[in-house]
Amino acid sequence: MRKLHIDNSFTNSLPKDPVAENYTRQVTSIAFSKAEPLKFPKSSFIHVSKLAKELGFTEEEILSEEFLQLFTGQHLYPHTEPYAMAYAGHQFGNWAGQLGDGRAINLFETLQNEKRWAFQLKGAGPTPYSRRGDGLAVLRSSIREHLCSEAMHHLGIPTTRSLSLALSGEEVLRDVMYDGHPDYEKGAIVCRVAPSFIRFGNFELAAAQGENELLKKLTDYTISTFFTDIKTSGAAAYLQFFQEVTDRTLEMIMHWQRVGFVHGVMNTDNMSILGLTIDYGPYGWLEPYDHGWTPNTTDRQHKRYRYGAQPEIGLWNLLQLANALFPLIEDAPALQKVLDSYKTNYQAQYLDTMMNKIGIYYTHKDDRDLLQALEENLHLHETDMTIFYRELSKIDSKTAITDAFNMISVAFYTINDVEETHKKTWLQWLETYLERLVFDMEQNDGENSAFAKARIEKMNATNPKYVLRNYISQLVIDAADQGDYELLREVYSMLQKPYDEQPKYEKWYALRPEWARSKVGCSMLSCSS
Ligand code: AMP
Ligand code: MG
Repeated sequence: MRKLHIDNSFTNSLPKDPVAENYTRQVTSIAFSKAEPLKFPKSSFIHVSKLAKELGFTEEEILSEEFLQLFTGQHLYPHTEPYAMAYAGHQFGNWAGQLGDGRAINLFETLQNEKRWAFQLKGAGPTPYSRRGDGLAVLRSSIREHLCSEAMHHLGIPTTRSLSLALSGEEVLRDVMYDGHPDYEKGAIVCRVAPSFIRFGNFELAAAQGENELLKKLTDYTISTFFTDIKTSGAAAYLQFFQEVTDRTLEMIMHWQRVGFVHGVMNTDNMSILGLTIDYGPYGWLEPYDHGWTPNTTDRQHKRYRYGAQPEIGLWNLLQLANALFPLIEDAPALQKVLDSYKTNYQAQYLDTMMNKIGIYYTHKDDRDLLQALEENLHLHETDMTIFYRELSKIDSKTAITDAFNMISVAFYTINDVEETHKKTWLQWLETYLERLVFDMEQNDGENSAFAKARIEKMNATNPKYVLRNYISQLVIDAADQGDYELLREVYSMLQKPYDEQPKYEKWYALRPEWARSKVGCSMLSCSS
């Protein structure tokens, strides 16, 4: 294999744990600890994503034994030392103290065309941060992480990437629903790739320990490596850094809301400092539109991380980051101002995103009312979010209102029992919507086919046609469990072009089947992975 341009900026810039042994412990004053992957001599790839080629690996290299050994952790790249990062976090609203990479082992960083990439194995064995865990991962959760990271990337959503999915060749014991029925499952290793895996929690750990020197080093490193547009220094630089993290976090969450992605575990240790979607656990995709929905059974009672709460949870998490950065800035009003900017920017971006989703170009004093009514209507009758928005683009200013209703009603889970009052409410909304389409045409100086075409294009570039529906993942997992990876490849391929019409994948543009309504893995997922 060709020589990689190794550039380990994190470990070269930050303090290392002096203890080299791999046992669970509390650490102080350090950013990372040594942690070697276990050897899995029977490991084999299930899938290598196209990211491998984007990163410059040739077909021959990808197929080589060396590539397999490298990205399953059996062979360490010369002169590199794998490590686990130390971080803390707030979990479900409570301070959880030290957490750290319990089953992620960072291999090295490379520079490729001046872009930095950190390579990290998930599920390759325990680290000093594994606490009571085994450091391993099972096939089902690894498939979900591998497919969804790549799907999100192709949806244009900031995310960590997945290079490869491998079977470890060994079994892992898991109690899927935490109900006292543990069973053996196939073990797997995913190789994740991102410019950096630093989380809010890395800053929180240093701050909670009163390690201001470490906090400063970590922040300086993060700014000089990843926020290179920041030209100021001292408190001004740290404040600008916080503003940029705030902006990126909001941007990421707006994308989630746009496509109906529910992360499921928005703890501060799962919040990337680069604003990337990170840690694909019990995530899910909205099928029936529902602000109150979360796929995470662990969060069933309070639904803290439900779809409709994600924007405000983002803000709550940023507040924790603000507290962590406070010793560097010591200006609470300035930090508050940044947090306030999140709220105002959210309002503006929400309006913008929603107008793109419904394909209305010209602003109008009643925009907010129109959207408010739409959100309410989508909750009236079980309505598939993805299908609804996609079908909406087929309506135009000349569509008759009853036709418009029939067009959107394909997104209804049960078509025959739509209550009369609900139908009436929808007809009212559609009437206003059609008026707005006419108003848009008028603003655009009347009938214009280019304008109509641009509207559809914009809507279809905002509303994906194909998303990784929860039951699709489950079908992939069930087949893969039997050693059949054909469906995985098909779904992976479909998700490369989520906004395009892909006639050969039309069958995946469909309502969730009834059998998946309450099946474990489809609508309910635990943190067990
Ligand atoms: P998560 O909720 O998956 O983000 O994980 C929260 C914390 O638990 C992180 O510090 C993980 O590294 C750790 N963790 C999760 N699963 C395991 C496992 N099987 N072995 C060791 N640590 C784990
Ligand atoms: Mg995590």
